[in-house]
Amino acid sequence: MHRCDILIAGGGLAGLIAAVALTQQGFDVTLIDPGPRPTGACKDTRSTAYLRPARDLLGRIGLWDQLAPLATPLAQLRIIDTAGDPPHPVDSRNFLPEGSGPFGWNLPNDATRAALCQVLETAPNATLRFGTELTGLLARDASAHVTLGSEDRIEARLVIGADGHASTVRQACEIDVTTTRYGQKALAFEVTHDVPHGDISTEIYASGGAFTLVPLPDRDGRPSSAVVWMEDDPRALDLAARPTDAFSAAATARSTSALGNLRLHGERAIFPVISQRSKRLTARRVALIAEAAHVLPPIGAQGLNSSLADVAALVDLAASDPTALGSDKMLASYEHARSFDICARMAAIDAYNRVCRSGAGWVRRVRVEGLRFVHDLEPVRRAVIRAGLGG
Ligand SMILES: Cc1cc2nc3c(=O)[nH]c(=O)nc-3n(C[C@H](O)[C@H](O)[C@H](O)COP(=O)(O)OP(=O)(O)OC[C@H]3O[C@@H](n4cnc5c(N)ncnc54)[C@H](O)[C@@H]3O)c2cc1C
Repeated sequence: MHRCDILIAGGGLAGLIAAVALTQQGFDVTLIDPGPRPTGACKDTRSTAYLRPARDLLGRIGLWDQLAPLATPLAQLRIIDTAGDPPHPVDSRNFLPEGSGPFGWNLPNDATRAALCQVLETAPNATLRFGTELTGLLARDASAHVTLGSEDRIEARLVIGADGHASTVRQACEIDVTTTRYGQKALAFEVTHDVPHGDISTEIYASGGAFTLVPLPDRDGRPSSAVVWMEDDPRALDLAARPTDAFSAAATARSTSALGNLRLHGERAIFPVISQRSKRLTARRVALIAEAAHVLPPIGAQGLNSSLADVAALVDLAASDPTALGSDKMLASYEHARSFDICARMAAIDAYNRVCRSGAGWVRRVRVEGLRFVHDLEPVRRAVIRAGLGG
């Protein structure tokens, strides 16, 4: 049986970043994932906006220098509210970050995962096993025994469930979830466009949900952005099936032509929009992080950013007392450190999504007034920006 300090199930962004951070603390880490090793060749068409605290964590664990060449800064956030069908703008406000430097940085998921694997492959205390999944888990007082699909077994002092929203680790620990379904889907894709984005991330609200354009580097000499387009289920499925030109035209109309004509580049991916919270974050010898613990609608760039707050909390606790790794005391501290923040972010994003997608006249009026109120009153604006950044 293979033995290690920490077994991480799940080689998504959260699992890989946790692996780098924990190997740097001197722990022996094994990471398993049923998928192939990420190579950077585009399988996941998404990119992720890393807000300042997430970037700070990446800097602290020495990853930022490696990832910075892939990053597009998000210098400003523009919010456009709309009315009508097709939507036309009724108000627009630009938000600037406090102090110097951008709000965040946009990084392509595939290339980021590939870069993280490269770092781990050079670490003597990291073992990466792609093509292998966790199938069973038995926790004892001093360690947990994990069974893999290959029928190998691993013994670890701490198991981290970073295996996504349908987490096998969570199910093996018999931890329930509460799930809210919004009847929405998120289409994720890349576009090129006529008007340069100027490093401004743009969110456009209309009934159905938010349409977000996040800056990317130029593609084939044309300005380019990543888009997350949230719509009610039937319309999202209809859009996903449209031919490229018709889809590009619909996206341009939905964007109120804020960046001129949008042209679809590459594939569209479609995701159900849910809010899901694990009723507990821990079990004996087990900690859940990221989407295994909490799933948020893809709005306000809170998903992975709150996941990295989980990683930071676990790393701090593990580093402060390495002998207590995976103990009841450490796991109780983790549960305590993360529960409130997760609940608060989930409540805020749930409300935000409901308000953003509403077509009801009175909600729209409140939304426009709310946008002006938040933007035009400096202390309110600062407080909202700080909260959005995870403060
Ligand atoms: C359209 C969209 C846009 C988003 N944009 C942003 C953004 O801009 N900013 C932001 O902060 N967040 C964003 N998010 C959220 C963010 O993408 C997620 O929070 C993040 O990708 C989740 O990472 P994860 O590692 O928890 O899960 P996943 O990426 O799902 O990774 C889970 C991994 O676990 C593996 N796995 C599954 N079962 C097993 C098993 N039994 N054993 C071992 N491994 C297993 C899977 O193969 C997978 O690799 C967005 C989400 C969506 C849908």
